[in-house]
Amino acid sequence: MQLFPCPFCGLREETEFHFAAEAGKARPEPAGQVSDDGWAKYLYFQDSPKGRSREIWVHLACGEFFVMTRDTVTHEVTGSEALSGRSR
Ligand SMILES: [Zn+2]
Repeated sequence: MQLFPCPFCGLREETEFHFAAEAGKARPEPAGQVSDDGWAKYLYFQDSPKGRSREIWVHLACGEFFVMTRDTVTHEVTGSEALSGRSR
């Protein structure tokens, strides 16, 4: 089993985490002028890069969302940081 680093709790088993979204994805604005296709693309489509990826994950045990940098091919985790402006 792989261990993931929560920036608040330290290393924990991967079963305690859940993928939330790709990091850096901008919400389309203004919301009232976004087409249905625009919303669908924002909500349901991911880039899914091969290799290094920055993603938002949630640690289910503490409920904190954070950015994890990992390689989608090797599964190596190279970074874990709180979302900006969040700390405990
Ligand atoms: Zn945690």
